[in-house]
This record gives sequence, C-alpha cells and structure tokens, in this order.
Amino acid sequence: GQCSLVCPVGALIETPHWHEVLHKLDSHRNVSVVQVAPATRIAISEEFGLKPGTVSTGRLINALRQLGFDFVFDTNFAADLTIMEESAELLARIEAGERLPLFTSCCPGWVNWLELNRPDLLSHLSTTKSPQQMHGVIAKRGAFARSLGPEFASGKTEPYVVSIMPCTAKKDEALRPGMSGDVDIALTTRELARMIRSRGIAFGALAEDGQFDSPLGESTGAAQIFGASGGVMEAMLRTVLHLKGQDDAAPLEWNELRGVRAGVKTATIPNIGTVAVCNGIAAAQRMFEDESWRDEYIAIEVMACVGGCLGGGGEPKSDDPDILKKRARAIYEIDVQSPRRRSYQNKDVQALYASELGAPNSPAAHNLLHTTHAARNSPRSLLMRFLDCVDRRDG
Ligand code: SF4
Repeated sequence: GQCSLVCPVGALIETPHWHEVLHKLDSHRNVSVVQVAPATRIAISEEFGLKPGTVSTGRLINALRQLGFDFVFDTNFAADLTIMEESAELLARIEAGERLPLFTSCCPGWVNWLELNRPDLLSHLSTTKSPQQMHGVIAKRGAFARSLGPEFASGKTEPYVVSIMPCTAKKDEALRPGMSGDVDIALTTRELARMIRSRGIAFGALAEDGQFDSPLGESTGAAQIFGASGGVMEAMLRTVLHLKGQDDAAPLEWNELRGVRAGVKTATIPNIGTVAVCNGIAAAQRMFEDESWRDEYIAIEVMACVGGCLGGGGEPKSDDPDILKKRARAIYEIDVQSPRRRSYQNKDVQALYASELGAPNSPAAHNLLHTTHAARNSPRSLLMRFLDCVDRRDG
C-alpha cells in the first residue's frame, strides 16, 4: 500500500518476517522454538544503547521468553555439532587424499558465491550443513521433537522453528533445496530488535539471569568463536587435534587466525598441514587468481563478511571504526570464560551421538546433518528447486 511505497528498503525486506513471527506466537497454535546465533547476543546490546561489546545473553533469553517462545535454544549447540562433522570429514579426506583443501560451508554468502561463480570447485566444499540448519533439523526431527508428544513423534506435526541471525543470507539458506523446512523463518538481529521494541520490552532493564533450555542449549567456547573470522577454523583445529590423538594439553588458541582485518590469514599445524582463513569474499577471489592454494593448504575457511558474522549484514549499523574489534573481543572473552572450550566436550552433543547419530560422518549423521551443493542455474539445481517448491506447496 501507500506505506510500502515510502518505506526504506531495509523495512521492506525485514518487516514482513518479524510481523509474521509475532502473529504466529500470539496464535499459540504451535510449539515454538527459537535459536540464537553467537554474534547476535553481543550486537543486540548496541540496539538498546548498551556499550558496544556488552554480552547480553541472559537479557536476550529473557526477552525471547517474554515475546512468547516456548523453547529458547543456542545455535552454538549446533556449531559444536558442525565442528564434529566437519573435523571428521577433513580427516577422512586427508586419509583418502582427495578433495583437498576442504572449504568450510557454514557461510551461505560464500556458498552462494561459489555455486554461482566457481561451480568447478564445489567438490572442495564441506557437505556439512551450517549450524542454523543443523539446529533446525535436530529440533524438528530429533529426540527433542519426539519428546513433545505422540503427534510430534509420528511426524504429524512439528515445532515452529525461528532463528535469529546476524545475516540476511541466512534467510536464503533456510529456503535452500534439500533443507528448506528445517528452519521456518530466519530473522536478523535488527528485526529482533524491532520485535522487542514493538512489544515495549525495556531490554536494558531485563534481568541477566536467562538460561538456554536443554538439551539443545549447551555449547562450548569453540562454538562461540564461530562468530568471528578465523573462528570456524580455530574451533575445527581444536577437535581435529583431539581426533589425531593429541590430548587436552594440545594448543587451544591459534592467534595467527584471529583478527578483523581483510585478507588471508594462515597457520601451520604440526603433523597436519597449513590452513588458511579468507576474511571476506574478496580475499577468496584474490586467492583463486592463481592455483597455489591447491597445494599449499589442507583447509580453507571463507566468511563472506569482513570480520566474520560479527560484521554481518543483519547486525546493527555502527559509526564506531573499532566496532568489529570490540565485538570480536567480546566473543573471545566468552570463549575464555567457558568451562569447556572444545566441541567434542559438549555433553549434549555427546549424548546426541550416543542416542541417535552413532559417530560423526556415520550414515545417520549424513542423513540429517549433511547436504549437497550444485551450480546455480544448472539443470540439477533447477530441478531441485522445482521439487522443493512442490514439496512446500504440498506441505
Ligand atoms: Fe552471513 Fe556474513 Fe556470517 Fe556469512 S559471514 S554467515 S554472509 S553474516
């Protein structure tokens, strides 16, 4: 209507989704689940006038409960799961000597770029789903969903899953062929701030005592650092070293891989090889200008946004030139304060493997936690998108 003609572009893109979520919550028709990404719990503070870099995890959880979500979970739980799968995948590829270097696959901005521009390199991409998608599928089809009652156990109904992400590309990821339906709606940090304001919740005055629900709420410090450039690789190294038989005294922190400046960062890991981190999509584009990356590295992390997700397009806008550094400092501080800092130490993740998935990279794990990638506009990707549409219409 008239209003949409004068709305700024951001509002046009974002408004319909958060309204839809509020409407759904108010209807109380479904069991509702929300998952929160690591970068959001820090950047949301800025939306409500708190000091940049303030960690607002407890306040955020309380706000989400006041909005009406039945279960508040941590995307970080699934980040640990992503690390378990990706680490096992990397070691399997090293053993087989194939499809190396492995490219990380948790950033949809990067995955989309590769599918569009370099489909010839898709075999390098890890097949693990991103934490957002893993969390969604486990919440909808795992033991948690079955515990909600017979209707859920039989698959007749399923929880309504919302994710809060620092990223506009996560909306597109939630609709990808092969995994659409795992997450019903992805909202950005900014959209969540609008929802909170629209309900008159005084965010800054909320108690800081909110706790994530279990069993999809536990996470380690390794999962938290996913929000910063270099964090996925560092988290993966912590588990890879463990799987290679190194004990818990193995190095935890890989400072060479940290930092928010654009470009390529590298680290050499004894007995394993050299890994690279492309901070921003332009760094990856430059890397592909020659072929040396093929032999130099065993694994490459690419995050499309400079700084990683803490610099994502769904985060609050800021004029502070040091904003990325401040957000990164907060993320690494959470890691240092975590009682467990390695993904394989996550008790809920261990329980999930013991009860449902077997081992990382097992057929059961592949069934739920892995996906496929295809060149955009190839006949196969068109067919997959078509089948997916039919699927959604029937559903
Ligand atoms: Fe999204 Fe940017 Fe994070 Fe990629 S790096 S997942 S595009 S916020």
